[in-house]
Amino acid sequence: MFGWRYYATTIMFSSLAYLATTLVCLVAIKSCNKKETPKPEPLAVYSVELDLEWCETPRHSKQFLIPKYENTVQILDVCEVSALAVSRSLYVFYQNWVAWFGDDTGEVRHMLNNLLIEWGDTKRTVHSAYNIHGRLIKNVRVTGLAIAPNHMWVMRGEKGIGTSSFVHELVHLALWNVYDSADPTHEGGEDNLWTKEHTEFINETKDLLFLIGDRYLADPNYNMDTLRSVMESNLRYGEVKE
Ligand SMILES: [Zn+2]
Repeated sequence: MFGWRYYATTIMFSSLAYLATTLVCLVAIKSCNKKETPKPEPLAVYSVELDLEWCETPRHSKQFLIPKYENTVQILDVCEVSALAVSRSLYVFYQNWVAWFGDDTGEVRHMLNNLLIEWGDTKRTVHSAYNIHGRLIKNVRVTGLAIAPNHMWVMRGEKGIGTSSFVHELVHLALWNVYDSADPTHEGGEDNLWTKEHTEFINETKDLLFLIGDRYLADPNYNMDTLRSVMESNLRYGEVKE
């Protein structure tokens, strides 16, 4: 017969084995759960220090992704500009751009999907710039800047995106991406990339964005079908109306 030591040892080992199995299961469940619930990525990408001239009050701003575009972000300071309103404005811009000028190579679409938009509240002074007819102006106060092929700065429009230089700067970036030149002399100068049609396109697109207004552009309940039908009845899509 076995002595009590035998039973005691068996019970002890069985308990230890049971405990070890439980621990292994717990670890397995834990690591399994970890895989299934990854942490959501935060929407704000990073903060930047602002020049005082760029915006009256804030010293810091945050960068936010624009919905439905791959890597397109905007930097926000005190001035509130709705990401959804920007997304829809980009949509209107692109649809109308394709109708007027086409985008066979997809470079404009690619630019819109990889764009950095900075908004400010005050005009910025630049050493020199050209007016729409290509005349050079020194120390000019501007409401928008095409900084790099995928980077623009825009002063917030008093009455929404349609009253800002948003569309104008997008045209510079579109030309920059397609022709390797933003054509800073606009309709003037010698490169002739920016034509009268580009100026007309800007006026038409801005008028429509102003007509709809930021309040509707920013409203998630504002239907995309409604937006498209408003575009249909207001845009010439490059055609000259009789
Ligand atoms: Zn310009």
